[in-house]
Amino acid sequence: MAEKVLNSIVAQRIEISPNLIKLRVVPDGWELPEFKPGQFGTLGVPGTYPRSDGATEEESPPKDLNKFVMRAYSIASSSRTKEYVEFYIGMVHSGSLSPRILNLKVGDRLFLGPKFKGMFTLSQVPEDFNAVLIATGTGVAPYMSMIRTEIAQKLNRKLAVFHGAYQSGDLGYHSELSTLDDMSEDFLYLPTLSHAHEEVTPWNGQEGFVQKLWEDGHLEKAWGVKPTPENTNVFLCGNPFMIKDMTTLLEGEGFIRHTKKQHGTFHIEQYYVKLD
Ligand SMILES: Cc1cc2nc3c(=O)[nH]c(=O)nc-3n(C[C@H](O)[C@H](O)[C@H](O)COP(=O)(O)OP(=O)(O)OC[C@H]3O[C@@H](n4cnc5c(N)ncnc54)[C@H](O)[C@@H]3O)c2cc1C
Repeated sequence: MAEKVLNSIVAQRIEISPNLIKLRVVPDGWELPEFKPGQFGTLGVPGTYPRSDGATEEESPPKDLNKFVMRAYSIASSSRTKEYVEFYIGMVHSGSLSPRILNLKVGDRLFLGPKFKGMFTLSQVPEDFNAVLIATGTGVAPYMSMIRTEIAQKLNRKLAVFHGAYQSGDLGYHSELSTLDDMSEDFLYLPTLSHAHEEVTPWNGQEGFVQKLWEDGHLEKAWGVKPTPENTNVFLCGNPFMIKDMTTLLEGEGFIRHTKKQHGTFHIEQYYVKLD
């Protein structure tokens, strides 16, 4: 296998909160590959890179500090953007890579895998089917790529994003998604907060877990059409507990999970395995 090199550079780092950043990465001397919106890339840095001050004790420190620590990250930028890729990354405090990534500054070098992968894309969804994109936390990243790419085209479908977060400060794409919601009748953005009671400025939006938005029938109210397996595909990304709950709800309504072997009507990207 070819040796890993620090083949890319941090071009922009936008801090959403101390534990959450948007990171734009530029390839140094090579071209980004084509990708489908919803796919992920691999980021890595050597174990010698320092972890963020906000991190806690590292759960599994790398055995060889000179080796690269690498993980998958969904691409948030449009597939039409050729100059950089954007990632939306949260810090897992005991983690190995995310505290090192959060500590990067503009100009720092990192590894970006030369191939982007994944089947969590809209390409399997019939063009006239609506798509409901449900996320917790950084799980909104692949949807940003889908929306930023699709919105420039003439759409035959309606798109909705349900985004669950702790507090409003964790809704890193709030203004962009709110603007799209204001501009397009075919696009619905519904953020919901699990800790709305801790907001400094009173929150007038939805509260509770994101799965409640589905149960409460917000889509039918907004679009006048009930989402069914005959007219809609649902995407789930982020927290494994949300994915488990939503899977139960969707299967109860006749949706079938899409896999490599089986064409289905809901799609899952799980960022990590449940910790119980
Ligand atoms: C296809 C795919 C796409 C992904 N896209 C993104 C993305 O866009 N943005 C993003 O921030 N992350 C994303 N992730 C998660 C990412 O790959 C890492 O798992 C995450 O950054 C933690 O890595 P770490 O090295 O810091 O923690 P590790 O050292 O791997 O883990 C430390 C501990 O934390 C637990 N853990 C791991 N991940 C999480 C988590 N997310 N939340 C809570 N506990 C966790 C582990 O089980 C372990 O006990 C994606 C994962 C996959 C599989």
